[in-house]
Parts: sequence; C-alpha cells; structure tokens
Amino acid sequence: AEGTKNVPESETTSASEKHTSRILVFVRLRPMAKKEKEAGSRCCVRIVNRRDVYLTEFANENDYLRLKRLRGRHFTFDASFPDTTSQQEVYSTTTAELVEAVLQGRNGSVFCYGATGAGKTYTMLGTLENPGVMVLAIKDLFNKIRKRSCDGNHVVHLSYLEVYNESVRDLLSPGRPLVLREDKQGIVAAGLTQYRAYSTDEVMALLQQGNQNRTTEPTRANETSSRSHAILQVVIEYRVKDASMNVVNRIGKLSLIDLAGSERALATDQRTVRSLEGANINRSLLALSSCINALVEGKKHIPYRNSKLTQLLKDSLGGACNTVMIANISPCNLSFGETQNTLHWADRAKEIRTKACEVNEEVLQVPESDTDQAKLLLELQKEN
Ligand code: ADP
Ligand code: MG
Repeated sequence: AEGTKNVPESETTSASEKHTSRILVFVRLRPMAKKEKEAGSRCCVRIVNRRDVYLTEFANENDYLRLKRLRGRHFTFDASFPDTTSQQEVYSTTTAELVEAVLQGRNGSVFCYGATGAGKTYTMLGTLENPGVMVLAIKDLFNKIRKRSCDGNHVVHLSYLEVYNESVRDLLSPGRPLVLREDKQGIVAAGLTQYRAYSTDEVMALLQQGNQNRTTEPTRANETSSRSHAILQVVIEYRVKDASMNVVNRIGKLSLIDLAGSERALATDQRTVRSLEGANINRSLLALSSCINALVEGKKHIPYRNSKLTQLLKDSLGGACNTVMIANISPCNLSFGETQNTLHWADRAKEIRTKACEVNEEVLQVPESDTDQAKLLLELQKEN
C-alpha cells in the first residue's frame, strides 16, 4: 500500500509555513515542440488550477475529471506550471523567497529534475531572450542589495561546477578534476573558481560560457551530455551590527542545480559500450534516490557519501537549508513513462523534512567603546 503518513498537512501552503520544514515541490510542463507536433504526438498531461497534474495516455480534451479515479495518474504539488508559464513567474513562485532568505545569511537550493529534453536547462539557465532561474535570481539579488542601506558592503561570489562521470569539474575555468573536501562550511571542491560578480550583465554571458563548458556527448558534439549535472553556487557575504552591537559576518549560499537526465537512473544497461560512464551517472542519480528514500523514511544514516553529487548536495537535502525542487516534464505521449517516473519522484520528495534553516553568522569584533565602534565602521567603509 502507498505510504500516506507524511502527506503535507494543509491543502494550501501559506507564505509563513513555506520554507520552514519541508522541501517545496513544483512541476513545470514544457510546450510541445514543433517537431513533436509535426510527428503527430499527442499531449498526455493536463494541469488544473495550477496545482493538479493529471497524466493520461488518452488525453481527450475534457475527460481529465474521469482520470481522478485512475490511481497513480493524479498528483498535486505546491504549484504546477502549465506550458504557458513565463520564466519570471516560475522564478517568482519557486525561488524569490529563497533569495530573500539567502540575503539574510541562510542557505537555499533549487534543483531541477526530469528526463532529458523535459526543460531543466531551459528552466535553470534559459536563453538570452528568456533568461531562467539562475539569471533571474542573480538579477533579483543585485536589485535587493542595491536597495539596502548597507549597500557596498555585500560581496557576491559565483562558482559553477559540473559532476560528470563521478568527477567534479570547474565550469568557469575548465581543467583538471577537482577534489572534494570537508571544511567548516560543509563539503567544498578544492580550488574551485570563486568569481566575484559586480553586476547582472556580466553574469548571463559567464553562465552561457560555463554551460558551453559542460561535457558533450562524443557522438553529438553540440549537445550537452544528458549525464552531466551542473551546480551554480552564489555566495553572499556582508557585515552588519547585531542587536548587541557586535559586528558580525553573514554568509548566505544559494545553490542552483541542473541535474542530469533522470532516465539514466532507470535505464541501466550495463552491457552497453559506455557501461562505465552509464554506471557512474547512475551512481549519482541512484545515490540521490537512496538519499531521498532514506530522508523520507526518517533513517538515521543518509548515504551521502555514495556519490559526488550527493556529497555536494548534502547541505541542500538534509541540512539546515531551504530547498525547492522543480520537476520538469514533457507533454508528449512518447515520454509517458518518463513523465510518470518524474512525477512519482517529485511526489515522494514532498515528504522530505528539512532542519530549521539558521542564519550563518560569525562575530568578528565586539566593540568596547563608542570610539572603537566608530573606528570599526570606518574600517568597514574603507574595505569596501
Ligand atoms: P533538458 O535540459 O531537460 O534536457 P532543455 O531545457 O534543453 O531540456 O529543453 C529541451 C528543449 O525544449 C529545448 O530546445 C528548450 O529550449 C525547449 N524548452 C524547454 N522548456 C521550454 C519552455 N518552458 N518554453 C519553451 N521552450 C522550452
Ligand atoms: Mg539540459
């Protein structure tokens, strides 16, 4: 029987209960491609009321209500986006609140999950005309920083990395694989480029370039490998005075993750020529599924160490972090199986509870007198 103990308590998610204790899960349906239409593909997904997703092989225009009776074909999420939803709306609904929290020194992550061709990279990176969540988040971040009174004090660093075939590579400065190690902030990739960003304009070009550096299929030189996971990390650091007039350093980290095609986690054919490569990608995605399962079941031991991807996502999944998952799906009837699988995993992810998200803060200096404080402030201003 299906486990029903951990279904979200309320039907609607209020703004205040959002991001406190569980992963928020969204679904985005991409439009039918021209080629698919021309090939006579039919739509097998129906989204109702921006929440409910009905999956059908028949998809007659008005029979979705009948489908309610079909088991495993009806899902409900924090929000479900029909194929007409704009990039801006996806950003505002899924990520804008995380950006606000990151500016207060908290951690947040957003990851896109789904089969190859379902719209993950479009959602995350987007195009020059229609930039996606990564770019819109950074734009919003700079706008918000500009509006703050302690402007000039914020430092924004970007890093962009790839996990491919169980090796970690720097997308901003390609070269040797990077080694993961543990430090006080969690798991970090040693030697990863920390690019200091000053404005939004430079960022889009930088990310497009980084995306070009993602591993491509040897057989299809222009296409990004569906086995590659890309992670953008945005770190915001600033100094403020807390309630006791201590100067504190706050650090917020936002991770935006474009996962490899989820079909790899299922389609295991160890005998293919690229079995090693396939097995390794399976390792990361399978490890992700095991971690999600362990978290859902409330296990003590979560097997993060089983892959590079789960080591890097440790903070985002089980740590003190606000986490958002966007499941991307195709409307095409040929992708029915993959779509059902994606929706199944997304449904399961709703049950993950995360720890309360705390502010990352470090006391730098405790002023003893007014003169000390004045000096400190002067120093701060000089530094920036
Ligand atoms: P994935 O990264 O999941 O493999 P892509 O993001 O590359 O998939 O999307 C596959 C194709 O569909 C691309 O040509 C992309 O531009 C297009 N596409 C995906 N989502 C949308 C959308 N919401 N609106 C318009 N085109 C989209
Ligand atoms: Mg992609």
